[in-house]
Amino acid sequence: MTSEPIPFLDLCTPHRELEAELLQLVQQAFRTAGFIGGPMLEAFERAFAEFCSTRYCVGVSSGTDALRFAPMAAGIGNGDTVVTVPNTFIATTEAITQAGAQPEFVDIDERTYTMDVDKLREYLETMCWPDSTTRSVISHRTGKRLAAIIPVHLYGQMADMDTILGLAERYNLVVIEDACQAHGAEYFSKRQTRSYTAGSMGRAAAFSFYPGKNLGACGEAGAVTTNDEELARTIRMLRDHGQAKKYYHEIEGYNGKLDAIQAGILQIKLGHLAEWNEKRRTCAQRYQEMLGSAEGIILPYEGSSGKAVYHLYVVRVHNRDELQRRLTAAAIGTGIHYPIPLHQQSAYRTLGYKRGDFPITERLAAEILSLPMFPGLTPAQQSRVVEQVLEFVGLTTAQAA
Ligand SMILES: *Cc1c(COP(=O)(O)O)cnc(C)c1O
Repeated sequence: MTSEPIPFLDLCTPHRELEAELLQLVQQAFRTAGFIGGPMLEAFERAFAEFCSTRYCVGVSSGTDALRFAPMAAGIGNGDTVVTVPNTFIATTEAITQAGAQPEFVDIDERTYTMDVDKLREYLETMCWPDSTTRSVISHRTGKRLAAIIPVHLYGQMADMDTILGLAERYNLVVIEDACQAHGAEYFSKRQTRSYTAGSMGRAAAFSFYPGKNLGACGEAGAVTTNDEELARTIRMLRDHGQAKKYYHEIEGYNGKLDAIQAGILQIKLGHLAEWNEKRRTCAQRYQEMLGSAEGIILPYEGSSGKAVYHLYVVRVHNRDELQRRLTAAAIGTGIHYPIPLHQQSAYRTLGYKRGDFPITERLAAEILSLPMFPGLTPAQQSRVVEQVLEFVGLTTAQAA
């Protein structure tokens, strides 16, 4: 075969295109030795808050730190339970545990792959007791107060925030968005009759700028967005050893700052994010047109009123591993997000969940495959991917018939 390999994700091209500008930025940091804090960081924080339509953005050292600091700053910790989904990256639950709380799961929706809000309601009504003293609820399983919900805007699509926020109000719960895959995604709220950007609906939201995310640094980076001034202040302290003034430690914190050079790099790339997201959406539409009528494959579902930013393009097929092998043999990169649900991970054996507890997540884990998706993916590359996929599902559906 003479065809060029098709990467799952092309991180080289954007850096080649922006190289001169990025190098100049690094040089400027060298000349001023402004590596920690300072104007580059503050400028990026202002710009990203504006992009998300929030009042505050606090840069931190990773998405995981953002996910840890947000609940901590909201007073969630020892003796609390936090509910999230089992189909996510482990950082979501690491953050809950490391904040001192215990994670619990509800299953995902079979179409959107984000939190199933009917299951969330059922969980609140049947698996929690009302606690008359605090207007909140106590989880049967953990025997601890349920303090927060962390919905994950998976693959670039926002969870059903209207219902989640409604339930959170009723049960006195904090909502923290895991927006690590959803920079610039939008959700149309029927309650408020307006659109919201990811990161602006919860009490706070966590973003990751890991290199492969829709907005990625050249290393580790993350941020918390919020409209809550006090929360922003606390997170600024948490990322910097609990100090607002040097060597005056109001609380014990962490070393979780965002480097100035990374902030400067992110600021340059942020200028391209809207256009990159549009390109991802165009690629998704093209996949949809090329694969749309095929039997034996389930394509991503996007509700009519929101706007997904396709961090990943995830399809479902039977014999997924076989399709992945076929694509690998044709030099086409793929991924699986995620192969083992969190409740079945060895790390979470102590949570006491078993196979069958979250059937949608479990079924999906065996069937999902992430196809190449990045802003520079060309129609010709997509045709080659689609050709392989169609041949495969044609063969397997013929066998099944
Ligand atoms: C990437 C990611 C994280 C973690 O972000 P890091 O910057 O790698 O720490 C958390 N949650 C989700 C859903 C992610 O995709």
